[in-house]
Amino acid sequence: MRLDGKVAVITGAASGIGRGTAEVFAEHGARLVLVDLDAEGLAGLVGQLKAGGAEVVGISGDVSHKATAVEAVGAALRQYGRIDVVFNNAGVMYSGAFHELGDDLWDRVLDVNLRGTYLFCREAIPHMLEQGRGSIINMSSVMATLTEPGYEAYTTSKAGIIGLTKAIAVSYAERGIRCNCVCPGWVDTPLNRRLAEELGGMDRLNALIKQQQPNGRMLSTREVANAVLFLASDESSGVTGAAIYVDGGASSAI
Ligand code: ADP
Repeated sequence: MRLDGKVAVITGAASGIGRGTAEVFAEHGARLVLVDLDAEGLAGLVGQLKAGGAEVVGISGDVSHKATAVEAVGAALRQYGRIDVVFNNAGVMYSGAFHELGDDLWDRVLDVNLRGTYLFCREAIPHMLEQGRGSIINMSSVMATLTEPGYEAYTTSKAGIIGLTKAIAVSYAERGIRCNCVCPGWVDTPLNRRLAEELGGMDRLNALIKQQQPNGRMLSTREVANAVLFLASDESSGVTGAAIYVDGGASSAI
């Protein structure tokens, strides 16, 4: 049990990588506060994890609203008396011609992906400082540095997350708080399944993945969750400010 007794907040927990990570954290003994906009999906996961014997609180809300961060961090402190880990995973992806992008879509991608991450870091850090320890893991993407047409807002948000991660790491390293991010490549999530539909089916998506990702297949959410588990656990005590690529080689390939 690599997270025995640790208290972890996970955003965007109802689906995809967030859900896989919540399951892996619970298996490793973490006590959880799970946050998602999707109240129904969240309730299902909370029920599933509780049935497996985990201690779990669900908070439905939008991570881009400060009140959600205040509520989630408050719930960790009220329920468990501490906060050891924050995994800022909630995210939205939008693609479309930049010159046709409405201001609202730009704002939404930046608000959820970057402001949401900022808000949860901002709320958790004072308590981590009091404890003298804490581990924050932020969700970036290979698309922070390798992109394709139409992903300006998404790429900007994910590059911003790498910058925020490194800045927080440097500011708080001496006071026991670590901050790292993960940069996944193609992962088998509902988000990418929806993309497959847009492309005209799984075969089209698989052909694209074979071109872009040397391992030639989508990663499972658990393969990403295992990297997050490492960063959340004391095994990574020397690691801060890192961007860990879990991408089947995508960021190394031409
Ligand atoms: P992935 O796992 O690839 O990041 P998913 O779409 O499967 O993609 O999961 C993203 C999760 O983040 C979903 O459960 C979604 O409901 C959640 N989410 C998206 N936007 C917000 C938001 N503003 N606040 C809270 N949760 C959000």
